Amino acid sequence: MKEVLTKIQEARHILLLTHINPDADTLGSALGMYHILQKMKKRVNILNTTELPYNLKFLPGFTKIRDTLPSQSDLWISFDCGSFDRLGVNEKKAFLINIDHHRSNTLYGDINIVEPTFASTSQVVYKVAKELQLPIPKESATCFYTALVDDTGFFKYDSVDAGVFAFAKELCELGAKPDDIATELTMREPLAKLRLIQLMLQTLELRLQARVAIVCMTQQMLRSSGATKEMGESALDMARSLASVEVAVMLREEEDGRIKVSMRSKTFVDVGKIAVAFGGGGHRRAAGFTSNLHDFDRVEKLVLETLAKELHIEKE
Ligand code: 5GP
Ligand code: MN
Repeated sequence: MKEVLTKIQEARHILLLTHINPDADTLGSALGMYHILQKMKKRVNILNTTELPYNLKFLPGFTKIRDTLPSQSDLWISFDCGSFDRLGVNEKKAFLINIDHHRSNTLYGDINIVEPTFASTSQVVYKVAKELQLPIPKESATCFYTALVDDTGFFKYDSVDAGVFAFAKELCELGAKPDDIATELTMREPLAKLRLIQLMLQTLELRLQARVAIVCMTQQMLRSSGATKEMGESALDMARSLASVEVAVMLREEEDGRIKVSMRSKTFVDVGKIAVAFGGGGHRRAAGFTSNLHDFDRVEKLVLETLAKELHIEKE
């Protein structure tokens, strides 16, 4: 912690890095830190090299996120990113502090602050900020709270414990507004998203004695609905919500034809372990990987073979 403080104090240009295909936790954690560092009068940039989610535009500082590396930076801090390749940069060009909560984190930083029991990376950032007695403005509280509710599915997942509620309480005291944030996250959906979900649910298949649900997303669906890819995540949650289902799988065709696999489990299957075995990562109940295969059926077969073992099901 002491070294973290020294590095921040000594740095002239700090770069905050977020993971590719960003979610509320990576952006909320980085933006929360951005406002803290602004208060400390530091020069800060935030980087994300991929498309930003439409629904997080309300986060204070969202428009400051840039997609190219700044010419100068002498300290890098990464947020919610389990491996270096997901940062979207070719090589490390500064001292790197890695702040995360993924158990699969590869500890690629010069300093690694990884708390696998924490429900969101924002909680790790907050802990660091508090320990170092950094100023935490209201904007940071809004960003951290958004990250927290998104990564816990609004306090639903098994990562939720008393510490999470204590964190949420402190964020409210710092000025986060739960109702406003919930409205922004859940009640401003574009029609395109519902159209996409409609198309995805038409592909819903139940396998392995209905313990596994599979939904697909193609580039054609994105074109015809006018939606962006992150809008399809709700279809995966709906698939998992079925009473018989333990694991929901989404197979998504990427722009380059590769297949991105997202997995969500309900009570016992460790999808994080499965994702790591396929070269990806994540958590016990939410994880993913990208396959180099360009064929839905082949990827589905591989995933189902693994899931059959996990679920102790020999035949369909
Ligand atoms: P999603 O399925 O929504 O993309 O991601 C679920 C969780 O798994 C997130 O915490 C995400 O960071 C992680 N994850 C998804 N895909 C990958 C991947 O290819 N590599 C790693 N390391 N983590 C991933
Ligand atoms: Mn996270």
